[in-house]
Amino acid sequence: MKSIKENFQKAHIVIIGSGIIGKFNALELSEFGFKITIIDPAQHNNSSNAALGMLMGNMYQKRRGRSWNLRKQSIELWPKWIEYLRKFNHELNIDKPLVQLTSNEEKFNKLEKFIHETSDLNLRILDQNSILIKNINKAFQTKNIKGIISFKDGRINPASLLKTIDKYLKNKKINFLKKEIKKIKKTNNQWISTTKDNEEIKSDIVILCNSLKAVDLIDSLSNNIKLKPVLGQAIEVIVNDAEVDLLSLPKQFNIDGKNIIPQSKIKLIIGSTDEYSIKPENNIFEKLTNFLDKKPSWLSKSEISKQWYGIRSRPDGEPSPIMKNFDNGLIVCTGFYKNGFLLAPACSKWVSNEIRDFLS
Ligand SMILES: Cc1cc2nc3c(=O)[nH]c(=O)nc-3n(C[C@H](O)[C@H](O)[C@H](O)COP(=O)(O)OP(=O)(O)OC[C@H]3O[C@@H](n4cnc5c(N)ncnc54)[C@H](O)[C@@H]3O)c2cc1C
Repeated sequence: MKSIKENFQKAHIVIIGSGIIGKFNALELSEFGFKITIIDPAQHNNSSNAALGMLMGNMYQKRRGRSWNLRKQSIELWPKWIEYLRKFNHELNIDKPLVQLTSNEEKFNKLEKFIHETSDLNLRILDQNSILIKNINKAFQTKNIKGIISFKDGRINPASLLKTIDKYLKNKKINFLKKEIKKIKKTNNQWISTTKDNEEIKSDIVILCNSLKAVDLIDSLSNNIKLKPVLGQAIEVIVNDAEVDLLSLPKQFNIDGKNIIPQSKIKLIIGSTDEYSIKPENNIFEKLTNFLDKKPSWLSKSEISKQWYGIRSRPDGEPSPIMKNFDNGLIVCTGFYKNGFLLAPACSKWVSNEIRDFLS
C-alpha cells in the first residue's frame, strides 16, 4: 500500500478556470506536493479582474449558517495568507478598516441593534460627532449619514493579489495551459480533460472553478447544478470641483449598497451593480451614483474616466457558492456570485481537505 505522502506526490490535479478561485485553490494545494495544472483560455478576462476587492466578512449581520462560517474562516485566514504572499510582493496588504454607511434611519437602527447584540470589539458604531462622520456628511452635502466601522474587514487590491499569486505559482512550477476545456470524462480511474483542439490531459482529480461554464462540463441535470449570469459594473470618476477633497473620506466604504474607493483627491471608484443579464445596462452613471436622495453637486458634475464589468455566476435554487465533492475525484467550487475574493481562502481550504481525505 502506498503511503499518504506518495499518494500526494503522485497525484495530478487539474484545475479548470483561473480566476481568483482557481488560482487560490492552486495556491492552497501547491503546499502539499501535488502535481497541479491550471487550464484557462482567458485568465485576464473574467469577473476576478473586474472586482473591487472589498473583504466584508466580520460586518455580516447573520452570524450563523454556512455563509457566516465561510466568512468567519476567511477573515481569520486572510492575514496569514497576506503575510505568506509578502515574500513575493512586499507591498501586498489588506487596507483596513471598512466603513458601512447609510442615510436610511431604519437600516441604521438595524446596524445599531446588530452591534449591540454582537458585542464584538472589532465593530463599532461611528460617533455622530466624530471627524470622520462630519467629513462624510460635509462631502455628501447632507446631515443624515450614519454608520459603523469594522476593524477586521477591509480591502485587498485585486490586480495586485492576482499578479502576486501568479508569481508564486510560477515559482512553484505549477503548469499553466492557455486552453479551453470542452469535455471531461472518467475512464479507468483517471479523469480526461479534453481541450478544444483535442489535447487530452489526464489527472486523478478535477476541480471545476470555471464559473458559468461549469455546467457545460458536467451533466448538470443529474448533478443538479444550475447557474445564472449576474453582470456587475463599476466606474472610476474624476471630480471637477475644488470644494471636495475625496481623501477626507474613509479609504473604502459602502454606502447603501454601493462600494466606494477614493483613489486621490479628485478620483474615486464606485461599484457595483447586479444585472441579471450578460449585456451591460445603459445609464450606469445614474445607477451607481443615486445612493443618496440628493446627489452632491460635485458628483453630478463628475465624469466617468473608466468603466468596466464582469460576469459572475449565481447558483439557481441553492446558496452561493457551490462546493460539491462527487466522491470520484470531481470537485466543483464555483458559483461565486458576490464575495469571491473574500471567500477564496475558506473555500480553498475546504477543497484541500476533501482532496486529502480522498487520497488518504
Ligand atoms: C464589478 C465587480 C465588483 C466586485 N467586487 C467584489 C468585491 O469587492 N469583493 C469580492 O469578494 N468580490 C467582488 N466581486 C465578485 C468577484 O469578482 C467574484 O466572486 C469572483 O471573481 C469569482 O471568481 P471565479 O474565479 O469564480 O470566476 P472568474 O473570475 O469569472 O473565473 C472563471 C474562469 O474560468 C475560465 N473558464 C471558463 N470556461 C472554461 C473552460 N471551459 N476551460 C477553461 N477555463 C474556463 C474563464 O476564462 C475564467 O477565467 C465583484 C465582481 C464584479 C463584477
